[in-house]
Amino acid sequence: MGEIKKWAARRPPISFLSSMKTQQTLPPNNEFKKYKTIVEKSPDIIFTIDYPGLKFTFLNRAFEQVTGFEIKDWLGKSFSSLVYREDVSLAGQKLEQSLTASKPKNFWLRVKAIKKPFLFLEFQLIPQKTLGKIKEGIGVARDITIRKEWESSLKFQRSLLKAQSEASIDGILVVSKEKEIILYNHHFLEIWQINERALSSRSEELATKYLAPKLLNPDEFLSIIQSTYRQPAEKTYDEVKLKDGRTLGRYCAPLTSSDGSNFGHISFYRDVTEQKEDAKRKDDFVAIASHELKTPITSLKAFTQILLERQKKTRDASLEFFLSRMSSQINNLTELVTDLLDVARIRTGKMELNYDQIKISDFLKETIELSVHPSLRPWIKLDVEGNPTVKADEQRLRQVLMNLLSNAQKYSKRNPKIIVRAGSVGKEVIVFVKDCGIGIEAGKLKKIFEPFSQFRKIDSENMPSLGLGLYISAQIIKMHGGRIWAESRLNRGSTFYFTLPKTKT
Ligand code: ADP
Repeated sequence: MGEIKKWAARRPPISFLSSMKTQQTLPPNNEFKKYKTIVEKSPDIIFTIDYPGLKFTFLNRAFEQVTGFEIKDWLGKSFSSLVYREDVSLAGQKLEQSLTASKPKNFWLRVKAIKKPFLFLEFQLIPQKTLGKIKEGIGVARDITIRKEWESSLKFQRSLLKAQSEASIDGILVVSKEKEIILYNHHFLEIWQINERALSSRSEELATKYLAPKLLNPDEFLSIIQSTYRQPAEKTYDEVKLKDGRTLGRYCAPLTSSDGSNFGHISFYRDVTEQKEDAKRKDDFVAIASHELKTPITSLKAFTQILLERQKKTRDASLEFFLSRMSSQINNLTELVTDLLDVARIRTGKMELNYDQIKISDFLKETIELSVHPSLRPWIKLDVEGNPTVKADEQRLRQVLMNLLSNAQKYSKRNPKIIVRAGSVGKEVIVFVKDCGIGIEAGKLKKIFEPFSQFRKIDSENMPSLGLGLYISAQIIKMHGGRIWAESRLNRGSTFYFTLPKTKT
């Protein structure tokens, strides 16, 4: 296009384009033919208008292809009649400016078309002078409708995103993988108590410098931010403590395009101070309540034992019945309260482990003897490969195994067969307890290690249950550096596995 302009400008006063209308009068030469072809084949509209009438004096083929109108219907018609009605007054100004200004600027207008209500065309207009007076204008117009539609859809999406992020109760920060801040909302400024100046550099690294003085542990925060770049595909949740006593939860997710490539991340910051305090109050309450409950239960237990001893002398059968019922209910209560106390210890980080070297084979044998009633022992098959040793808190480990054994019995009334197997695999010792009981539905299986996950009440009179046993077991195994999981099929039975790091021999 620039070539044609230059060419046209080199040849005043006879305009090349206007000469095309009267080409019969000019001797044809090669150069003329060449430029005529370029003009005719151009995908952009090329036209001339007279001045000051602003009527079309020439239009190339592209005019028909772009607008759908026929050239013959438009030659001699005014430029403004082609312009979409809402842009007509603007068109007058733009044309005048373009033709008279010393340095004409590109402009765009909406013009009529056959297949659409309007098209967006970008215009370039060069005035042509004869004896110093503007006589006509050579114009080039490019169809930019698609670009304009993209722009407006992009604007819409941006405003939608902005509205969504402003309506959010979280402080939002969007950062590109080049660490440039792309978007933030007002809540982000409020939650961090900073003003926009802190983000004006658009650099996350610089912004972090404004945030650092507000943090109780700035280094920890920096390493959280850095790990976002090290593992860009990960969704993460972290909590950061501020000097003013607040705790902010930071949920971070990757921004991924449809082809899977990562172009940054979005972080949501929420003040979770109250939530944390509530949870702590709840944990403290459970700890205090279970501790307080334990004392009267212990005395009740002692008194029941004394009464049972005395009753043996009086030989009153009804008294024995009631006292033994009382004793078993007190045992149940003790179990529940012990579980609650353990949960409180875990939640408040107060569960301590006393490590010992434990020979797995002996340990499993002893635990079965201790916890399974002699009449049920023949149903239990114990199978240990070698006698690997683990470093563990014996009492806590026993608690885990007893929980798995008691569940296996509790949920397998019809087929009481249980297999306990252990062996070493690599650097771990693996233990599993397999039953042939009622099994667990797939959907529920995922939740059994969460606290309060009791799904079915079975014979609740004899079996106290808060759904805490597996949660406590899982926490104990994790504290030992091991893993715990379960496999189950409904009505076929369940297998609970746990591993512990093996002691080097
Ligand atoms: P609970 O005190 O209720 O047994 P647990 O935490 O030990 O609590 O177990 C949680 C839930 O997991 C149980 O309520 C039960 O629904 C299910 N469950 C645990 N072990 C088994 C098993 N061996 N067979 C079937 N269901 C089980």
